[in-house]
Amino acid sequence: MTAFWTEADFDDHELVQLVRDRESGLTAIIALHSTHLGPGAGGTRFWHYPDSKDALRDALRLSRGMSYKNAMAGLPMGGGKAVILAPASGGKTPELLAAFGDAVEALHGRYVTAEDVGIAEADMVAVSRRTNYVSGLPVEGAESAGGDPGPFTAMGIFHGIKAAVRHKLSKDTLTGVRVAVQGTGSVGGGVARLLAQEGARLVLSDINRDRAAALASELDAETAAPDAVMSIACDVFSPNALGAILDDEGIARLDAAIVAGGANNQLARAGHGQLLADRGILYAPDYVINAGGIISVTLEYLARQKGESCDINEVRKRLVQIPGRLEEIWQQSDETGVSPDVVADRMAQKLIGR
Ligand code: NAD
Repeated sequence: MTAFWTEADFDDHELVQLVRDRESGLTAIIALHSTHLGPGAGGTRFWHYPDSKDALRDALRLSRGMSYKNAMAGLPMGGGKAVILAPASGGKTPELLAAFGDAVEALHGRYVTAEDVGIAEADMVAVSRRTNYVSGLPVEGAESAGGDPGPFTAMGIFHGIKAAVRHKLSKDTLTGVRVAVQGTGSVGGGVARLLAQEGARLVLSDINRDRAAALASELDAETAAPDAVMSIACDVFSPNALGAILDDEGIARLDAAIVAGGANNQLARAGHGQLLADRGILYAPDYVINAGGIISVTLEYLARQKGESCDINEVRKRLVQIPGRLEEIWQQSDETGVSPDVVADRMAQKLIGR
């Protein structure tokens, strides 16, 4: 492997640690991008990487993304991420999760972990037996922050879509606004329900067609095939499934005024934000609009560290600040001609002292 400081995705990360535990078979990378604002916070991914370089790239890119996301959400947290390289021989064992917990503990709170792709709540509970530096643990009662971040992420996106409709279409209501939703899982399904309550006209799409159809019948919405949803004529295209969908071909197909959704890393590469702007499409930077979940789990974590529980109203208060942040980005973009994704990156870099 080449030295990681020559990797294109290395961005002066404060720490990149390779963790190896022969007994449990654990191989993991923990990356701390910035702890300028607080401990590096971000989930753990468990994934089969064909090449260990891909794991390193994920850890570097995702931890930088978390620095930006946490900073723009106004949280006192830096950015970190862990990836566990799934062993060829099998899956997650209690021993492997325990060894990972020990590695997090050894950083003495510089890194705070949580769930990400391939890691369930029960896995985090196992990790939390070895370290307290864990967020996103189950909580008791519906009026507490924390637990499943999906509904909070969806709520933040809903507020963000309303702000985008106001900014781009000068409409204060979603009544009659046509939204194409890609992905109807935890986040997309939540967004669709909130939009439907406000009278939006929905087109739903999911590779799990039964899931999209069931939600469409519940919400009296249309459905679209997964390969057609990006070309639907609509006011808002809301990506809530995969990353990197906004590439040359995807952007050329769009027939929407706004792109606003929760999927992480929507832009295939940096220049694609400008391509959207060139087509007159308003883009809500993904890590700003989808911060609701991290806001919830972080407030829960910070309260738990003090032996308290976090009132859900605290989270709601923070969620309604997402539109203000987006409006600031779009205004700067309108004034300077710099695309919203670049404006957001620059704001985030300033906040983390870069
Ligand atoms: P999920 O697994 O609950 O739902 C994803 C849905 O997308 C599934 O129903 C899946 O079948 C569908 N899907 C996959 N590929 C598709 C395609 N090509 N076309 C249409 N549908 C497709 O996941 P989620 O928690 O809802 O997360 C969705 C996205 O939001 C991911 O990119 C995730 O990284 C991001 N995100 C999630 C959260 C959160 O709190 N869960 C927070 C921030 C960002």
